[in-house]
Amino acid sequence: MDQNTREELLRLFNSKLNQAMKFYLETCSRCGMCTHACHVHESMPQVKYIAAYRAEIVRRLYKRYFKKQGRIWPWMGESKELGDVALEELYEAAYSCTGCRRCMVYCPHGIDTQMLMSIAKLLLVGANSEPEILTLLADTSIEKGRSIDLLKTSFMQGVKRLEEEVVKKWKTEAGETTIPVDVEGASLLYVALAGAHSIIPAAAVFNAAKENWTLSFFEAVNFGAFVGDPTKTKLILDRIVNEARRLKVKEVCICECGTAYRVMKQLSGKQPFAVSSVTEVHARYIKEGRIQLDRFAFKDPVTYHDPCQIARNAGVIYEARYILNSLADDYREMSPDPKYNWCCGGGGGLVALGDETLDFRMKSAKVKAEQVNDTGAKILSTACENCHTQLSNLNDHYKMDVRVRFLSSMVADALVQPDALS
Ligand code: SF4
Ligand code: SF4
Repeated sequence: MDQNTREELLRLFNSKLNQAMKFYLETCSRCGMCTHACHVHESMPQVKYIAAYRAEIVRRLYKRYFKKQGRIWPWMGESKELGDVALEELYEAAYSCTGCRRCMVYCPHGIDTQMLMSIAKLLLVGANSEPEILTLLADTSIEKGRSIDLLKTSFMQGVKRLEEEVVKKWKTEAGETTIPVDVEGASLLYVALAGAHSIIPAAAVFNAAKENWTLSFFEAVNFGAFVGDPTKTKLILDRIVNEARRLKVKEVCICECGTAYRVMKQLSGKQPFAVSSVTEVHARYIKEGRIQLDRFAFKDPVTYHDPCQIARNAGVIYEARYILNSLADDYREMSPDPKYNWCCGGGGGLVALGDETLDFRMKSAKVKAEQVNDTGAKILSTACENCHTQLSNLNDHYKMDVRVRFLSSMVADALVQPDALS
């Protein structure tokens, strides 16, 4: 690595050093409490998969370049030079961590390995050593934001083709728009993922609840966050923030995408609209009596996988249980305390990397498959697209014999039509 590149990477490293990050970098007491907290290590017990070990890869660079002892006597202590070998170690650490933060709830100091891995990811981006496909996908999202006017017509045509499917789940009155788009003054802006599965059930439930809603032109997923590029994360996020402000909505509802929800909730700053997940919105509709669900719509035993970015990392835990207990006869918890639920093994961009990571994802999530099997459930529900893909892969790989379902689609399937009520 040449000196200019190293200096640029150190500048990026420095940009991450806020007070919290310095605390994480200077605090580890090597107590070992995080050792068994990580699903990767529990499924594949190797030292390199211990949370504290991953952190140490970043910490050694910090000691070398940002602490006095490392700068003056770099050969002393446990500092490490930033070079090609260090980049390889950073890659291995960052892209075998899903950012689930289960280790953090076990750590007596609350050390956030995900945040430390965000330094690793940023250095990889700076060195052009990140997974290229994630950057490519992030750039495509940003470009879509810039040229949205050219894409609007084809988007509207695509949406129109979905209306019939929405009506099958919930009949709309004559004259009502089944999937409203670009409605200024709507109460709620729904940000979906690309694909009918993310739009049809949600539209049916909004219509059933008589919500004054409108569909976003943009997909929720934030590849900038997966690749750990703060500039791209912000540009992708801003497309939705600007759309919400332009339409003057009161609430932005993020579809079943954990990272998109967390990014919007925690990084959009103070805005004139509230941010909610579709799970929170559905729970609210049930509570307020705006939708009625068939209490026995699902007779097979159901369990729920908490998406890390929605549950442990953003606190949406109770709502999913409330929904499932409103539509399933036999709901079974996976973990006595959902805060400690195992990660599915697909976060942090690993699912987006597809087949490239499949073998690692299957091996590293063995404990998740066992946790699901132990419930004896036949339906495995979740509220995140990444988790859904990973759990479906696990289902095939470990022959779990479950049906993996999006929670929102279960809500749509359990809707009780008004004529059934009379
Ligand atoms: S954030 Fe999750 S995947 Fe990463 S080290 Fe901690 S427990 Fe393991
Ligand atoms: S639990 Fe926290 S303090 Fe203990 S070894 Fe792990 S990261 Fe370090």
